Amino acid sequence: MTLNSSHKDKTHKDKNSLKTRLSREIQTGIDSAKDSENADLPDLAIRTTTMYSKWYTRHCPTCKLKFREQDQVRLCPQCSQAYHDDDQYNLRCWERHFANERNCKNDSHDPINEVDRKGCYYKWNGKFPDDDDSRRQPLSDFSRVEEIGPQFLSGLENIRKPFGEEKIEIVKEYDEKVGLKCPWCRFLIRPGDHVVACPCGKCNTWFHMDIYRHLTCWNEWNGFRGNNFCPETSAKIEKAPEK
Ligand SMILES: [Zn+2]
Ligand SMILES: [Zn+2]
Ligand SMILES: [Zn+2]
Ligand SMILES: [Zn+2]
Repeated sequence: MTLNSSHKDKTHKDKNSLKTRLSREIQTGIDSAKDSENADLPDLAIRTTTMYSKWYTRHCPTCKLKFREQDQVRLCPQCSQAYHDDDQYNLRCWERHFANERNCKNDSHDPINEVDRKGCYYKWNGKFPDDDDSRRQPLSDFSRVEEIGPQFLSGLENIRKPFGEEKIEIVKEYDEKVGLKCPWCRFLIRPGDHVVACPCGKCNTWFHMDIYRHLTCWNEWNGFRGNNFCPETSAKIEKAPEK
């Protein structure tokens, strides 16, 4: 004899169930608590991107680069679209975009998702709330050390050099490295980045190595993970002879 269960499962999920809505609300609260550095700033103030910023890893509409940690941005007061305004990298995306009274975004058609996107009609009046004082100057190497002293020191402590001393290069404006992808963080290499070459000597791979900007990709690849091979060709990299 078989037990024939005709009982249907009634607990199937409703998209707008209370639970779903609550968890969405909680998530929003967590998001702003997480990115607390940027939570209570006035409209148009410069914000410094953190891993928890909503725009982190999204694309800047002007330069098309992904926003990285420490990138300085301004947000559209109406739709919160982020644009760079970053002296460190000379990325003047906000001003470039809003020049000549352009609005934030036009209506557009998204061919991939087959939907029409509503634009944002915000226009900038050419002024910032912080026009005189709070615009950040590019940091000299000296003041960078001063500003983030403890972080700088702990960064140094954590640098292991199993493959010997690596030469750190600062990427120039028209350098051929610009636009290559760092194999560790997957962000593109930009002018102003501090990078080191893969020590295999056979690939054209560059890792970030800039403790000031939290981009210690080389260190993480070779030190913490103990990887001793080229991320491009998998060729083994010999360790530096012990002294
Ligand atoms: Zn940009
Ligand atoms: Zn907008
Ligand atoms: Zn990187
Ligand atoms: Zn290599």
